[in-house]
Amino acid sequence: MATTHFDYLIVGGGMVADTAARGIRELDAAGSIGILSDDIEEPYTRPALSKKLWTDDEFTWDKVPLNTVDDTGADLRLRTRATTIRPEAHEVDAADETFAYGKLLVATGGHPLPLPIDDGTNGERALSFRTAADYRRLRALAHDVDRIAVVGGGYIGSELAAALVQNGVDTVLIHTGAVLGDAVFPPALAERFERLFRDAGVEIVAGAKVEGGVADAAGIRLALDNGDEIRADAVVSGLGIEIATDLAEAAGLTVEDGIVVDAQLRSTTEDVWAAGDVASYPDRILGRRRVEHVDNANEMGRAAGRNLAGAGEPYTHTPYYYSAVFGIRYEAVGTLDSSLETVEDWIDTDRGVLYYLDDDRVVGVLLWNVEDARDAARAVLAEADTLTRDDLVGRIR
Ligand SMILES: Cc1cc2nc3c(=O)[nH]c(=O)nc-3n(C[C@H](O)[C@H](O)[C@H](O)COP(=O)(O)OP(=O)(O)OC[C@H]3O[C@@H](n4cnc5c(N)ncnc54)[C@H](O)[C@@H]3O)c2cc1C
Repeated sequence: MATTHFDYLIVGGGMVADTAARGIRELDAAGSIGILSDDIEEPYTRPALSKKLWTDDEFTWDKVPLNTVDDTGADLRLRTRATTIRPEAHEVDAADETFAYGKLLVATGGHPLPLPIDDGTNGERALSFRTAADYRRLRALAHDVDRIAVVGGGYIGSELAAALVQNGVDTVLIHTGAVLGDAVFPPALAERFERLFRDAGVEIVAGAKVEGGVADAAGIRLALDNGDEIRADAVVSGLGIEIATDLAEAAGLTVEDGIVVDAQLRSTTEDVWAAGDVASYPDRILGRRRVEHVDNANEMGRAAGRNLAGAGEPYTHTPYYYSAVFGIRYEAVGTLDSSLETVEDWIDTDRGVLYYLDDDRVVGVLLWNVEDARDAARAVLAEADTLTRDDLVGRIR
């Protein structure tokens, strides 16, 4: 088997791969960078797949690719699935080639959890949603069929339901909560959130789980746990991801809800780093965690790249998360969990700051249509030990 050597090898060709390659180049203009990706296209911006591409006519496809190869000179191997990491030898195997590395970054993200249905259409009418190919497939379906079911009330499912209904598709959204968004938003806000969807014409089926079903040329029949059946022409699911840690685990890296890395994003194995959705890292403010969001992918990717190139710097960025539907945009830092107590600070009817408290201590901040306040939210979390609830109202504007 042929062996190709790279000074820096990145396994995974997603958002972290892009920023990591750029991070390497900030310190090392010449070192060779290899990227192994089992996707069919170069790294691209995933959030656009469920938002702007559907709702902003000026956001055209040319804005989706991240131009990693042109900008960094990385050698990107598409359709190339890494099958084994051999840390002792500093080698990674793919199907018919071995890659030797000086430093290795594992950035394999995750795979969408599958919908438990019998799909006789080979993904033509039943799909999950993670890749650019998934976007194109759903776009074609939105054009070709009348009614699409969306399964899952998290941010991917809700963004997709909004995208579809705004593109003239008869949309039914099935989710397990009592009210859409009620896992993260307190009751009144969840009601408001769900109303946005109903007012736009989305049919909402709440409190129901898809237990089985069939997809065939005649359409989709989804069997719900309450005994009901939902029919549509196609179905797309957003049920969360299973993180892709199998390679790392088999190679002996420590994996505990993610590949365990230290402040410099080094795994427990020499010369191997990890970043992005797969990495469990010690957040400076919030403690050890794993984050499946784009700000983290971008910032942690860059930090990992710099460290591969010898920077030796801790990752000190506390990431935020955002979503946007029907003209509202919310951002969050820390933990949003509606079972926690909340302190609500509404600036006006459309803009507000919500603080999530665990045992009287702020653990999460939600910014509802409030711009440029992420640093202020991080400051609240950093000072959480000394803040009382009276300090919160009026603090962020
Ligand atoms: C539709 C969508 C919308 C999103 N919107 C938002 C948003 O609004 N806000 C937000 O904060 N976050 C959002 N996210 C999350 C964000 O995109 C992810 O957190 C981010 O992409 C993670 O980057 P990553 O590089 O860790 O993983 P990914 O971008 O998933 O990249 C991992 C890559 O590794 C490849 N791979 C896996 N295993 C192997 C292997 N063995 N060999 C070779 N290649 C492999 C995969 O094919 C993939 O290309 C969204 C995600 C999706 C899917």
